[in-house]
Amino acid sequence: MTKLEQLYEGKAKKVFKTDDENLYIVDYKDDATAFNGEKKGTIAGKGVINNIMSNHMFQLLEKQGVPTHFVEQLSERETVVKKVSIVPLEVIIRNISAGSFAKRYGVNEGIVFDQPTIEFSYKNDDLGDPLINDYHAMALKLATAEEIETIKKMAFKVNEVMKAYFDTLNVTLVDFKLEFGKTDDGTIILADEISPDTCRLWDKDTGEKLDKDRFRRDLGNVEEAYQEILRRLTGK
Ligand code: ADP
Ligand code: UDP
Repeated sequence: MTKLEQLYEGKAKKVFKTDDENLYIVDYKDDATAFNGEKKGTIAGKGVINNIMSNHMFQLLEKQGVPTHFVEQLSERETVVKKVSIVPLEVIIRNISAGSFAKRYGVNEGIVFDQPTIEFSYKNDDLGDPLINDYHAMALKLATAEEIETIKKMAFKVNEVMKAYFDTLNVTLVDFKLEFGKTDDGTIILADEISPDTCRLWDKDTGEKLDKDRFRRDLGNVEEAYQEILRRLTGK
């Protein structure tokens, strides 16, 4: 596997071509942003932790029948993934009210829902990732009705697997964001990352936040929270 030219540098990762036209290499950075890039910083060691955690979660999900882009971890920060065309939707599942949900609907954080919710944002930095519904996504030709159905089913399945798994680690899975992609033959698979950058994770006993909200809200001990999640996942 040879790493070829960089295709893209995002806020948290770089994406490289490889000598296999169906595979990319993602390289996780320590850079952190919040509020559509208004707040910037670095979280020392985050790239390494997010790489290991994402790969850990993707392998767990594969075992439970969810197809993902994961192929092989190359180094601390680099992973080989299947090349996909990303469906430009941020798919957010929530089990408990927090963040933009609490703000938008004027409710406290921490309300446990009777059933999980799903919402979509249009992945478009210039527009600030606006909230959209299925019909808007279809009107904008971001995905077909069938693809949206597949994505919803997969997202709820991911939630069931992750919720049960985090429970065994004494962690409450509050909410998270997923991205899906299409392979050349049109199959929808789970892509991007699953990490403390993209999930809200609360300690089950104390409610302590073990995720990017520590950075967003200047709560301190940001690095320690990421390390604590990794420790619970891998014992390291
Ligand atoms: P952002 O683009 O939001 O700043 P990142 O810094 O995480 O995000 O950049 C990674 C980019 O790679 C994202 O745009 C993501 O959608 C894309 N991506 C993730 N997995 C794959 C994949 N398997 N194939 C192609 N692109 C991917
Ligand atoms: N999220 C994400 N990327 C985004 C927006 C949200 O990974 O661009 C994750 C976020 O970490 C949280 C969940 O999606 O776990 C729900 O986020 P919310 O809509 O509450 O937004 P925020 O609080 O980030 O404004």
